[in-house]
Amino acid sequence: METAPTETLLRHPRHPYTQALLASVPCLRSPRRMPDEPTLPGEAADPHFPPPGCRFHPRCPVGPRRLPERTLCSTAAPGQTPVEHDELHRVACHFPVPNSRLR
Ligand code: SF4
Repeated sequence: METAPTETLLRHPRHPYTQALLASVPCLRSPRRMPDEPTLPGEAADPHFPPPGCRFHPRCPVGPRRLPERTLCSTAAPGQTPVEHDELHRVACHFPVPNSRLR
């Protein structure tokens, strides 16, 4: 869903799933959440019967579940698109999270 040099990916993730994965990493010094609190709602899609469009759309925190006007997410699979003209940083998302919304 997202590719980039390691430093870029860890410091500036733009795909909502990448952000959720990084948010699920436990922090031993300052626990950010209870151990059984899910990072994302719902369950992973059945790989044998994936949903149409973006396979992540039923769980995406910035997809049509929360923003119904983003119908593109549930109808068209996103391709790997460079983020802000950076050919090394590519995201499979119709609406990559802007940098300003990150940590
Ligand atoms: S394409 Fe839509 S549903 Fe998929 S990750 Fe991006 S915003 Fe979320």
